[in-house]
Amino acid sequence: MLLVALGDVRRRLLHDVGRTLADALGLASASGPSLERPQYAFNEARRQYHASAILRRLAALRAGAAGAPVLGIADVDLFVPDAPWVLGDADRAAGAAVVSVARLADGDLQRRDLRARVEAVHEAGHLLGLDHCPEPGCAMHLSTEPGEVDRKAPALCRACRAALGP
Ligand SMILES: [Zn+2]
Ligand SMILES: [Zn+2]
Repeated sequence: MLLVALGDVRRRLLHDVGRTLADALGLASASGPSLERPQYAFNEARRQYHASAILRRLAALRAGAAGAPVLGIADVDLFVPDAPWVLGDADRAAGAAVVSVARLADGDLQRRDLRARVEAVHEAGHLLGLDHCPEPGCAMHLSTEPGEVDRKAPALCRACRAALGP
C-alpha cells in the first residue's frame, strides 16, 4: 500500500497508519509523496472536495509504485453526490482509497489520529474486497458520524478476518 498525504497531514500520522494496516490487515506499506491540498476536486457550491476526483488522481500514482494500491489521507472535507459528506471512500477496481481527517477532530489530536487509523483500516479493507460489517466494534462497520468511529477498533472482527482468507 502506498500512503499519500493530501494537504496538511503530518508524516507521523502516515507512519502510524502504515503500522496499523500491518497489524490489522497484514499489509506492507510505504510512505509516498506529500501532495498539495486537492484543489482540482473542490466543488464551489458545496465547499467540499469530490472524493471520486481524488481517487482518480491517487489511482494514477500506482504506476510509479509497482502497481501497489494507494491510500490517501486528506485534510479536506469529502463528499460524494448522494451524501452530505463521507469520512472516506474507496474504489476497489481502481485500487485507490482516501480517508479525511477533516471531521475527525474534536480538539483531541490523539483521538483524531486513532479515528483516522480506524477509517484507514476500513477503506483499505474495501480495497481488499471486504464489505460493510454488522459488528459495531469492527473497523468494517459503516460510520457516517465521527463519534461512531469511537465504537470501533482499528482491527477486523473474526468474521472479516476469516473473509480475507489466510
Ligand atoms: Zn465503507
Ligand atoms: Zn467485521
